[in-house]
Amino acid sequence: MMKNKKKRSIKMDTMVIHDGYDANQFQGSLTPPIFQTSTFTFESAEQGERRFAGDEDGYIYSRLGNPTVRILEERMAQLENGEAALAFGSGMAAVSAVLIALTKASDHIICSQGIYGCTFGLLSMMKEKYHIHTDFTPMETEEQIRSLVRPETALIYVETPINPTMKLVDLELVVNVAKEYDIPVVVDNTFSSPYLQQPLTIGCDIVIHSATKYIGGHGDVVAGLVVGPKDFLDEVSVTTQKDVGGIISPFDAWLLLRGLKTLPVRLDRHCSNARKITEMLKEHPMVSKVYYPGDPDHPDYPITKKQMKQGGGLVSFEIKGDKQDAQKFLNMLNFIPIAVSLGDAETLIQHPATMTHAVVPEESRLKMGITDQLIRLSVGLEAWEDICDDLKQALDELAKMKNPAY
Ligand SMILES: *Cc1c(COP(=O)(O)O)cnc(C)c1O
Repeated sequence: MMKNKKKRSIKMDTMVIHDGYDANQFQGSLTPPIFQTSTFTFESAEQGERRFAGDEDGYIYSRLGNPTVRILEERMAQLENGEAALAFGSGMAAVSAVLIALTKASDHIICSQGIYGCTFGLLSMMKEKYHIHTDFTPMETEEQIRSLVRPETALIYVETPINPTMKLVDLELVVNVAKEYDIPVVVDNTFSSPYLQQPLTIGCDIVIHSATKYIGGHGDVVAGLVVGPKDFLDEVSVTTQKDVGGIISPFDAWLLLRGLKTLPVRLDRHCSNARKITEMLKEHPMVSKVYYPGDPDHPDYPITKKQMKQGGGLVSFEIKGDKQDAQKFLNMLNFIPIAVSLGDAETLIQHPATMTHAVVPEESRLKMGITDQLIRLSVGLEAWEDICDDLKQALDELAKMKNPAY
């Protein structure tokens, strides 16, 4: 339906550092300046008129555009291999701007089975208020998706890997069906970042990120990004971005530009640490299941090989025991913080059943594989030996509590 850019030969490790910025345009400043300003002055009344009429390029007011934010948007468009990008004040501001822009009352959405909790909340609200119905499907076969298509289907929304059980959706399969019916495919690429997975290159139309996670990478900013065709993003920028107003601050855009420079370096480490930790967990007698897309034993490993560069930084696992045992295990960790969010330098651990997925009714939760024993780990950048040791000592303690002879 929509066109995105052709692939360039320059490597991503270089793009994250240079793309979208020309120091010569900013007095030679090596790093992009922070334009901490709400508005921009005009040289004359006539210039103001021309800017508002769109007859002259230039800034007007920071909700409509800001130079620091623009640099981030240009860099992100290149990284996701898209025509254009827009930055937002949170991942959810990005998700809502896209969903509202693509739909009208009584439309229909096809969505992957597991999605971020607040995206689910937004879809529920759209159903109540605007009669926009969403069908959820595991998207395992083309037929599964095709059988749900209706004349009023406005978009297909996909998250892969799916949080927290790390099931994957084959994006090529989704694109095949979407192209038949000319329906745009929107992918929340937060868990992979453009370094590990590029949905636009596969033929999807729009990519969304919670930049709070791997793009920022340091746990110090909440932000969102959308990448896609210029026509569509031009429309979003003058409608759901300008008039709903979930914009990013220039300082937060600057933090993301700084975070992006190390994205490939960080992701390589997140992924290699995650592989080591997966190996340790698979061997431990207190662990009954391990879910990691980079594990050759993962049922969706062929999809990982097909569309991801590496398996990512998230590992989920089930311990032997019940909810109380899961909580005891978390409490016995020495340095790994108990926290939601992901993609930070710090390894973070959380209990989906009582935290990120607490609002999901128990029956649906269990159907999604989110048991009381399931733990989600966002593997950080610490030495993998130290992360393993901490997990292992808490698992060993738990084993001793349950079986003193251990
Ligand atoms: C965190 C997250 C979001 C929401 O992003 P915020 O920046 O917290 O608003 C959306 N999708 C996924 C997959 C996420 O992990």
